[in-house]
Parts: sequence; structure tokens; C-alpha cells
Amino acid sequence: MLQGADIEKNKIKLSYIHVVLTVNCVLRCKMCFNWKNNEQNEIESEHIKAAIIALYENNLLVNDMVTINFGGAEALLRKDTFDLIKVAAERNLSTALCTSGYLYNAEVSKKIIDSGLKCIALPLDSSDPKKHNYLRGVDGVFEKAMQIIQEHPGKVALTCTISEYNIDEVCKIAEWVESNDNIAHLGFQAIVSPLGINWEGAPRREWINRSEFTHLWPKDMKKVKNNIDKLIKIRNKSRKIYTTEKHLNFFKGYFEDPFKICRNAKCRVGDNAVTIMNKGDVVFCHDNEPLGNIRTEGIIDILSGPKVAQVKRKMLDCTQVCEFFVNCFFEE
Ligand code: SF4
Ligand code: SF4
Repeated sequence: MLQGADIEKNKIKLSYIHVVLTVNCVLRCKMCFNWKNNEQNEIESEHIKAAIIALYENNLLVNDMVTINFGGAEALLRKDTFDLIKVAAERNLSTALCTSGYLYNAEVSKKIIDSGLKCIALPLDSSDPKKHNYLRGVDGVFEKAMQIIQEHPGKVALTCTISEYNIDEVCKIAEWVESNDNIAHLGFQAIVSPLGINWEGAPRREWINRSEFTHLWPKDMKKVKNNIDKLIKIRNKSRKIYTTEKHLNFFKGYFEDPFKICRNAKCRVGDNAVTIMNKGDVVFCHDNEPLGNIRTEGIIDILSGPKVAQVKRKMLDCTQVCEFFVNCFFEE
């Protein structure tokens, strides 16, 4: 049942909807441990379809430019991924498939076209195939990404996660993207605490002190500053790099000392972002409890419920250095 007044009270207008179709993966990335998962009984298509339609029909999207991200771990592991994309695309919603590209083949290529998918979001950590494949943990994933770029001109958005492994080549990657007419967009992110780990309540920023991850963290701060300053110059003339100058400058401070980065703004993720997890939980972010589960309740009822205000209040005081704070919802 629609509870319009409560939705209004909860002040939710979504600009970010992420659907985690599965937490299983085929890669072995150095910055993520989702590949250790072997989850069964993941959320059924019908519940995701109902949620997408309800969000659309109840006008919960901030505008018709909002993109629904279909991701995972590896979204292409599911057979219904493109059916779900189609449900959103048929309502003129913008859609993105977040994938490593490793499972791409002729059948997937046809489904990309037939489903009306708007954007293929691919990671690219290096222009050197060996380095990208090393960081992603399997041979051939760089080559698949290049094949997708070639076969789907104008559809691909790349994300480069800055780490010790590529701080020397961020400008090279930016220049290459500028010169490649097939690539639509490029964004930069800073490496954050690896996914797929149970932090058991410990502050996530402490990940950089764990010996198994120190190889990922940039060591030479002079190099970080020089390369990011050069990247900003490229960015300011770019047609494709959407990461702002302010955000790139923020990365310099973050890499210098993630323990001291200044949080000017309270976390407002709960006002405009929602994630549907692989077993149906609806969350504002991974560090907070679910608001409800779409297997047992409609998404509008969930977003109308009293839990929303409770969780949002708690989020205002959060001091985690999380991927949303560092990369996705950086506040200007
Ligand atoms: S980063 Fe993504 S592609 Fe890599 S193991 Fe994790 S979920 Fe899979
Ligand atoms: S800052 Fe805290 S509440 Fe906000 S998204 Fe990150 S972990 Fe969640």
C-alpha cells in the first residue's frame, strides 16, 4: 500500500539506485574478496522487477535522468540480468550494467543491444594488460574490456581506481580515453577498504595498516600530488572525465592521511541513495542495518517505514571512511 505522506516525511528522492544482483564473482581482484563467496538463494527476478516498477510509478526518482545500476559482484553471472534491465529501459529509465566484462561473448553482446541498456560500466586499472589482469586476478579480463569498448561505441564508461599500482599512469589512462572515440566517460576513484571482509565493527579506514593490503596503498606522496595535479590539468580540458577538480584534490589529502581527512558534511546518503542487496535487503549503505526486505514487503512500504528515519539519524553521525564518502557521494 502506498504511504505517500510517510514517504514525504522520510524525505527520500532517489538519485542513485543500485541493485546487487549477486555477490558471487568470477574474478580474483586484489582489492576485494567477494570472489570467496558462494551464495545460493539470491533474490528472485519478480521481486526486483516489482521494486523497479514501484519506484518509477510512485515518482521516487529525483528526475528522469536517474540511472539504475545493475551490478554485483558479477552481474553477468545471472541469467535474468538483461530482463531486469529491460524492465527499467522500457520505462525510459537510464540503466547501467556494472561488470568486469570477463563473461562477455556474442550472446551477451546481442542482449546488451536488445535490452536497451544505456551504459556499460567497466573498471580499468591500467593501460598495461598484464597489470590490469594482475590486479583483477585473471588473465584475459583486460582483453574482454577492450573488445566491449570496440563493439559498443559510445556506451562504455570506465572507472579507474587509483592505487600504488597505477598512480604513475593515471595521466596516460586519461589521455588514452580522450583519444578513444568509443569511450563515453571516465571516472577516477581512490582505493578504499576491500569489499567482502567482515570488519566486525572496526573502523574501516584501518584496513591500510593490515599487511595483506599495504601493497595497494600509494607510498610516495610527492608522486601522488604531482600525478594528480597533472591529471587535474587534463581533466579541466576533458570532455569525458566527470570526476571534479575538487574531488581529485580531495584524493591527495586522503592518500596523505586517511585518518585526518576532513568531513565537512554529514552523511546524506540516506536522502538520495538506495541499494537492493542480493537477498532482497534494502539498505542505504553496507554499514547500516537493512530497512526491510523486498521478498516480504513492497519497496514503497519499506521506504515509508519508521526505520528509515532511525537509520538516517544514525548515519548523520557516521565517521566511516567508506566508498560512498570517498568516491560516490563526495560533497562539493
Ligand atoms: S572487485 Fe568486483 S570484479 Fe573484482 S572480485 Fe570484487 S566483485 Fe568481483
Ligand atoms: S559515511 Fe557511514 S553512513 Fe554514510 S554511507 Fe558511509 S558508512 Fe554509510
